[in-house]
Amino acid sequence: MKVAVLSGGGGGARFLRGVVATVDPAGVAAIVNVGDDLEVLGLSVSPDLDGVLYALAGLADEERGWGRAEETWNALATVESLGGEAWFRLGDRDLGLHLVRTQSLRDGDSLSAVTARLAAALGLETTILPATDEPLRTWLDTPNGSFDFQQWFVARAHRDPVARVRYQGASDARPAPGVLDALHEAELILIAPSNPFVSIGPILAVERIRAALERRRVPCVAVSPLIGRQAVKGPAAGMLQRLEGGTSAAHVAQCYPGLIDALVLDEADAADADAVAELGVRPLVTKTLMRDAAARRALAEAALNAVALA
Ligand code: GDP
Ligand code: CA
Repeated sequence: MKVAVLSGGGGGARFLRGVVATVDPAGVAAIVNVGDDLEVLGLSVSPDLDGVLYALAGLADEERGWGRAEETWNALATVESLGGEAWFRLGDRDLGLHLVRTQSLRDGDSLSAVTARLAAALGLETTILPATDEPLRTWLDTPNGSFDFQQWFVARAHRDPVARVRYQGASDARPAPGVLDALHEAELILIAPSNPFVSIGPILAVERIRAALERRRVPCVAVSPLIGRQAVKGPAAGMLQRLEGGTSAAHVAQCYPGLIDALVLDEADAADADAVAELGVRPLVTKTLMRDAAARRALAEAALNAVALA
């Protein structure tokens, strides 16, 4: 079965592990957020692409929730001791990947080409695509100023309330090679339980990706990142409250107007199912906490079963 999955690098990456454990990984294409990308210490870092690469290669640190397992931090400790830029946490193993990516980009390769090579080197069969090869950066406008994603999220610990999210460069950005093909060939399109504003929003801000979803001929199913109206991790609930006016499953569905046919929501939010249905979106109620491999798989199956909605 051919499946295209829109994803960020955290909850999205874990969901992808469930998807590739359920269907043939070679039939899965992940279309990944690049709005978090940054240059730090002269290196090109793509945190969400790396989150997906590490998760699918079985290299992710599951407890920390980002970066690589068995990581050490000697290089960054040296940077700090020398007065260098050390606010963005880069582990030694992780740095190795950034070195390879940075060199390839400097040699003129596209982000999608570099990512494909990294995925192959890690032994992955799944297609991993940046949403775009062009610069697209998420900015947050807050009462305390405007910050790029990593300044807001990491340096300021996402404490500034967000009044507006902007996707700089999105209006000119073309989908990366392979993205539109993956969407057109898919028998099912999934939106992972990623942050709708800062993980999925930047992907949908690429006009031709949004248009491909609007004109889809196959079902598109989103998975809610909220359980009991709270985020499992991160700022999604606060952002939904401020930007959509609430944290029910219906508010999650409202983030994807005209783009989804069904929403997988947690049993803890079952009371929101009718409100979701009123938006013309089929509610699929199940357990959505990905606590282990079995839970990841069960959640993927619940979303994949929606292919029968066609
Ligand atoms: P990021 O790139 O690291 O910000 O990660 P994503 O945007 O891909 O995922 C973050 C979202 O995943 C958060 O809003 C979490 O609430 C959600 N999330 C994390 N773990 C789970 C889980 O086990 N189940 C569900 N339903 N959502 C989850
Ligand atoms: Ca991210």
